[in-house]
Amino acid sequence: MKGFATRAVHGTFSGKDPNGALRMPVYDGVAFEHENSASLAQTFAGRKPAYVYTRLANPTVQDFEQRLQSLSGGLAVLALSSGMAAISNTIMTLAEAGANIVTTRKLFGNTLSLLSKTFQPWGLSVRYVSMLDTCALEQAIDNGTRAVFLESISNPQLEVADCAKIAAITAKHGVPLVVDNTLLTPYLFDSKKAGVNIEVLSTTKYISGGATSVGGAIIDNGNFDWRRSPKLAGAAERFGSMAFMASLRQEVFRNFGACLAPHNAYLQSLGLETLSLRVDRSCDNALALARFLAEHPQVAAVNYPGLPEAGSHAVAKQQFGASFGGLLTFDLADEEVCYAFMDALRVIRRATNLNDNKSLILHPWSTIYAEYSPEERLAAGVRPSMLRLSVGIEDWDDLVEDLERGFNHHD
Ligand code: PLP
Repeated sequence: MKGFATRAVHGTFSGKDPNGALRMPVYDGVAFEHENSASLAQTFAGRKPAYVYTRLANPTVQDFEQRLQSLSGGLAVLALSSGMAAISNTIMTLAEAGANIVTTRKLFGNTLSLLSKTFQPWGLSVRYVSMLDTCALEQAIDNGTRAVFLESISNPQLEVADCAKIAAITAKHGVPLVVDNTLLTPYLFDSKKAGVNIEVLSTTKYISGGATSVGGAIIDNGNFDWRRSPKLAGAAERFGSMAFMASLRQEVFRNFGACLAPHNAYLQSLGLETLSLRVDRSCDNALALARFLAEHPQVAAVNYPGLPEAGSHAVAKQQFGASFGGLLTFDLADEEVCYAFMDALRVIRRATNLNDNKSLILHPWSTIYAEYSPEERLAAGVRPSMLRLSVGIEDWDDLVEDLERGFNHHD
C-alpha cells in the first residue's frame, strides 16, 4: 500500500471525469436525472448504485469519503455537515430510548451537552466513568449498554485513555467502542489498529485545511460483529458487516439531513492533501511551546501529552508514537491574569476553534464550558486559571515572542 501522503494527494479519483479533470469537480446541484423510471425504482430499492439527491449522496462528497476511507483503512465512511452531526448520528444509530451509553465527563463541552441535555431527556441513560479506571468502566457496562464513547485525546483536558485496553473490554462484552479522533486524525492515530470500532471526526479542525469549512465524518472500522448489537441485529441479517453504515445512511442520516455541502467536501479534500505536512508542523511547534511554557516562572502548570513529565505521556507515546497533536493547556495565577495575558497577544488569535493553521487561544472556563456550574466545570477538568492553546503552523520564534508579550503585559 502507498504511504499516507501519497494516498492523501492522489485520492481515489482518476480519469473518471468526462473532461479529464485531475481533481474531482464540485457537483453543486441537488438532483440527478435517470434515463427511465425503472432506473429510479431500482436505485430507490437499493439494487442500483446511482445518485438521486444530494442530501443522500453526491459525487464530490463521495470522493471525500473515499479519500478518508483510503487514509483510515476503514470499511466505510460517511461525511456529514459537522463533527457534532457525526457524533449525534452515531449515537442515534447505535442506541435507543431505555438503553445506556458509557462515557466520561472528560469530553468536548458540546458533546457533554449533547449526551446530558439532548439525549438524556429522550430516555437514553448516560453513565460517566473515568476512562483511566478500566475496572469502573467494565462495571458500568451491562446488557443495556449500546456503546462506550471517548475522545482519543480529550478536549480540553488532554486526557489519554488506553484504547487497546478499553477495546479488549468492550469486545468481551459485545459493545461497540466509539472514539472521537478529532485531535489526532487517522494520520496520527490508527484507531482500527487499537481495536476501536467506530471513529468519529470533526473534519472542521485539522482536516479542513485551515478552518475553511465545517464538516464531520463517521468511519466504520469494519471490526465489530453487528449481530451482537440488539439495535442492529436485524440490519446485520440483511447487510452483514455493512449493517451500521446501511442503517445510518438509510435511516438516521437520511432523516436528520445533516449532509456535507459539496463545496465543503471539495475544500476538505483539498485539506486532506496537505494534512500530514500541517499536522507535523503543528505538532513540532506544540512540543516546543510546551517545553518553553513548562520552564516559564509565571506558568503554574502545563498539560501536553508530548511532555515526558505529563501523566498521559506513557500511554500517548505507546499509542500515538512520536507526535501528540497541536493542543496544549497551561495554568496562570488566576482568571484575571488569563484575560490580561490573552488580550496582550498579537500573533496568537483569541478564537474558539482548534487545529487551524493559525494559533488560537481560549479561556475554556468562561466560553465553551460557561453553560455549566463551577462544580460541573471542575468535574470536567476545567479550571478558571486554565488557558487552551491550539498551536498552528507559524514560525516558532514568532509564537514564543507573542507568548512573552502576554507574560510581560502584567509584570
Ligand atoms: N469533537 C471535538 C473533540 C471537538 O473539539 C469539536 C469541536 O471543537 C467537535 C467534536 C465538534 O465539531 P464541529 O464543530 O465540527 O461540530
